Amino acid sequence: MSSQEEGELSSPEITAIGISFGNSNSSIAYTSGEGKAEVIANEEGDRQIPSVLSYIEGEEYHGTQAKSQLVRNSKNTVAYFRDFLGRDFDSIDPTPCHASAHPQKHESTVAFSIQDQESDAQNIVTVSEITTRHIRRLASSASDFLGKKVNAAVITVPTNVTEEQRVALSEAAKKAGVEVLQMILEPTAAVLAYDARPEAKIKDKIIVVADLGGTRSDIAIVASRGGIYSILSTSHDYETAAGVQLDQVLIDHFAKEFIKKNKTDPRKNERSMAKLKLEAEATKKALSLGGNASCSVESLANGIDFSSTINRTRYELLAGKVFGAFTRLIEEAVRKADLDILDVDEVILSGGTSHTPKISQNLQRLFPPTTRILSPSTLPTAIDPSSLSARGAAIQASLVQEFEKDDIEQSTHPMVTVTPHLRNAIGVMVVSEDVKKGLFSALVEKETAVPCRRTGVFAVPRDGGDVIVKICEGLREIKVSKKEKAKINGKPASDDSELDSDDEEDEEAEEIREKVWKVGTVLAEAGVKGVKKGGKVEVRIKVEADLGVQVEVREAGGKGGVRGTLEK
Ligand code: ATP
Repeated sequence: MSSQEEGELSSPEITAIGISFGNSNSSIAYTSGEGKAEVIANEEGDRQIPSVLSYIEGEEYHGTQAKSQLVRNSKNTVAYFRDFLGRDFDSIDPTPCHASAHPQKHESTVAFSIQDQESDAQNIVTVSEITTRHIRRLASSASDFLGKKVNAAVITVPTNVTEEQRVALSEAAKKAGVEVLQMILEPTAAVLAYDARPEAKIKDKIIVVADLGGTRSDIAIVASRGGIYSILSTSHDYETAAGVQLDQVLIDHFAKEFIKKNKTDPRKNERSMAKLKLEAEATKKALSLGGNASCSVESLANGIDFSSTINRTRYELLAGKVFGAFTRLIEEAVRKADLDILDVDEVILSGGTSHTPKISQNLQRLFPPTTRILSPSTLPTAIDPSSLSARGAAIQASLVQEFEKDDIEQSTHPMVTVTPHLRNAIGVMVVSEDVKKGLFSALVEKETAVPCRRTGVFAVPRDGGDVIVKICEGLREIKVSKKEKAKINGKPASDDSELDSDDEEDEEAEEIREKVWKVGTVLAEAGVKGVKKGGKVEVRIKVEADLGVQVEVREAGGKGGVRGTLEK
């Protein structure tokens, strides 16, 4: 092929990276030889690259340089555009763009009228073209870093992405010379970034991925079963719980302080507001690290400088409502998945806003101590939340870049598709002559995608002998009880408790919520004769795609055994 369009691969060699493309920021990552994902810093040293483009006399600025142009050159600065791609103009919410180039209707899609050439002419630039330019800049930074031309990528997309948005993103990237090998969902990328760590133990678990960004928060409940990820439910918020709402809390706080001293509201003037917004965001980030932070703006309004400080406690009080909204959004997603807070094994905090210590602390309070909250302020070994998506995408890119396109579709789709799932757990109860009512132990967890197989070893009653192994459905229930108050010599332990009436004591008693199994339908029973004292039984269960179940039971370490198939 002599002349090739930009976007077509000029040689069979593929150099692929992972791209996380957000409304506020984007990140690029690659995997080193050992399969470790690293985030690439661009020429300015940024790993979180603002998804912003700005034009001054025909020259294009990108990332942080472009973001700072929101103060002086807002009309020629395009920001917060990712969610407009592949959408009808009539369906978009242009609010985030009130202080940058305004989106406008262009043949039913979205465009911006900007002066992007040296001439004074205003050009209509579609959101698709803006995306192409943005991806071109990201790929170019990655190419400079890697020393070879990047020509392919795995790009992350939100869970509510539409087919039109996928097509538009793929086309825009292609025009930038980047073949999209695959689009993976943002929460899947975050889980992958954690699970690909060498020390990670892949086990069945329920994970909440809270992707808290600048303009939106997306929650996904993910079931990880035998290394397969299934998304059980999602929740999205664009109005009450995201980074810009936290910025607004600080903007309002500092604006009030400024008004008190200077009798003028900086929020009323576009340029003053843009300056204050940039500084308030920086203050907010500093408050994630330290107990105090300052905010200084030169010539904020009417030529008056502004300088102030705020401590974290005050900030957390002021932002209490927004913090509450994050927690509620997560609770909503858990409920939608038909799960309880107690079912959650891990919470992965992803996205820039997840650096906020208060959010993790609130989640520590919401979930039981057994739930791992993976965020920098609750776990020192947590991965930087801002880099999770890009890392996951890079890992996926390294896995799929050798594949043919059709194979990629086939091999990676089951990771996130809606395959059938078990509604209830399947588990085992071992009973004998002496122990008539065995304890239920789950072997295949609820929400496991089928087909699947699991093997487990279960203790038998102490003296061994003939046992019956029951394979049953398990229904998870939440048992609520009241914690008994500690008593000394029959009296309540606390000094002032004598004053309390019984009723008050009851009210104060701490509620204990526990996960318990209710045994449902018995699917099969198998007898194993003469199990050794202290011996165990091994149970293998295979659930087919049509929900037919095959069961094998034998004494652990023994030969033979009982095998049976159940049709559903
Ligand atoms: P969206 O698509 O929702 O706009 P995004 O995925 O493009 O977001 P992220 O980088 O995940 O962007 O999140 C950006 C938000 O994170 C911004 O509001 C930013 O101020 C905030 N943020 C970044 N770092 C910190 C920090 N250290 N502490 C608190 N907030 C932070």
